[in-house]
Amino acid sequence: MVTQQESVYDQTIARLKKAGIRITPQRVAIIRFMIQSVAHPTAEMIYAALAPAFPHMSVATIYNNLKLLIDQGLVEEMNVGDVATHYDFALAPHYHAVCTNCGRIVDFVYSGMNDVENVAAGKTGFAVSGHHLEVYGLCPDCQRKLAMTNGGKQAVE
Ligand code: ZN
Ligand code: MN
Repeated sequence: MVTQQESVYDQTIARLKKAGIRITPQRVAIIRFMIQSVAHPTAEMIYAALAPAFPHMSVATIYNNLKLLIDQGLVEEMNVGDVATHYDFALAPHYHAVCTNCGRIVDFVYSGMNDVENVAAGKTGFAVSGHHLEVYGLCPDCQRKLAMTNGGKQAVE
């Protein structure tokens, strides 16, 4: 893991210990996997990645650990329009671009993120605690693939 990920990992373990949560090898593996992943995996994807190292682990263990990390505010549950739930270890605030063809989820940061909340607070009088934004479209790979299957015609109208 790169340095930023290592420090996030150390903070995460410290936080769980403080909350009286037992640190098992499986829990460590799930946390490390989630911190390193940029893929916004589903529980099945996490299971597939870790099963070779933990042959006795069940998918239920993955779900239980994800729930624990969500309850601790460390992992975000994402429902982005397809059937499966995806999970994101939130290292820093960011938005998502979701491919409507292959389901890929890509992070992006926008410098006006704080402004959105200030404008919302100003216009509604809400004490804003957070927000959520996804943009949808075709990822670069799918744009290329669809352009090819259309005989070079523009895939995106
Ligand atoms: Zn795609
Ligand atoms: Mn993300």
